[in-house]
Amino acid sequence: MSFLNPEDQKIFKFFEENNIAKFRLKQIHDWIFSKYVKTFDEMTNLGLDLREKLKKNFHLYSLKLKTIQESKDEQTKKYLFELKDGSLIESVLILSETRKTLCISSQVGCIVKCTFCASGKNGFFRNLEVFEILEQIVLVSNDIQDRLTNIVFMGMGEPLLNLDNVLSSIDIMSSDKGFNISKRKISISTVGIVEGIEKLKEKNYQINLCLSLHAPDDSIRRQIIPYAKKYKLEDILKSLQDYFLVTKRDIAFEYILIENVNDDIDHAKKLYELIKNFQCSINLIPYNPIPNLNYKRPSHQRILAFKSFLEKMNLNVTQRYTKGDDISAACGQLAIKQNF
Ligand code: SAH
Repeated sequence: MSFLNPEDQKIFKFFEENNIAKFRLKQIHDWIFSKYVKTFDEMTNLGLDLREKLKKNFHLYSLKLKTIQESKDEQTKKYLFELKDGSLIESVLILSETRKTLCISSQVGCIVKCTFCASGKNGFFRNLEVFEILEQIVLVSNDIQDRLTNIVFMGMGEPLLNLDNVLSSIDIMSSDKGFNISKRKISISTVGIVEGIEKLKEKNYQINLCLSLHAPDDSIRRQIIPYAKKYKLEDILKSLQDYFLVTKRDIAFEYILIENVNDDIDHAKKLYELIKNFQCSINLIPYNPIPNLNYKRPSHQRILAFKSFLEKMNLNVTQRYTKGDDISAACGQLAIKQNF
């Protein structure tokens, strides 16, 4: 039972059976979403009896905050949470002058098992429930006593393989009765699950959709993203074009640069051919090394050459600067050994 899930019939039932007025629920939501309280005791407009009753019957939050690690530059914080069943997930807060972005997990572990990524190394355990996705936001807001401005589904897991829960959580994140974070400030990153992209298109949510492209052709892509064997790039790109036609939202392509795997100028040329007809941006992510993996980040020169070529071709190129690598909170570094 969770107060973050408006569909939770058990809570309605409990309120009814205990003759608690419906508007109390609204008051509780207000404490949770706008006042960042940690306990029922702090909900001072509820009356002592009601607070006691709630304490006896509910846990306000199911996630337990285990540890927080902060990077030296104080711009990144990694939160480790324990779920009710003992499994662990991580979320990463990234601060900039204008944004407070939370990178959240959608699954425990990951089934996709990209060869360069830490998240799938220990396999897949389970999908997160709607309230488990949302509690990451609540508990981090609690910690900083402030509102988050942007949410990215770029933590552990493949969000399009837990799409129903991800969509329900987005409904609550963006609702003015919930966190009131505009859908335009919410991003989903996917390895390219065609059925999921089609479903997103039908929903026509104004979110940002990012494709972890990482290679200019199927052959290289399948070496580093074995799960990609299920879908041809051609089909993924077609579904993204359709998605754009309906939603009118630019697509963001993510491209990790890994030395001698996908970082030649020839790769950049092929990449350009692949995406030149898209209204899109391309986000270059210099590889973040993971212990025991043989992949390397290319030299600064090679990264620059790759980037300059794409810029010369008039693509909208950004480079993601690694933040939080000193606390293993950078892209692809989230892995929880204790889960398994
Ligand atoms: N499953 C989704 C969500 C994960 S998002 C997806 O694949 O898009 C995390 C992003 O970080 C993805 O683009 C992923 O490919 C990238 N990533 C994973 N490992 C990385 C690493 N070691 N260095 C840099 N980026 C990495």
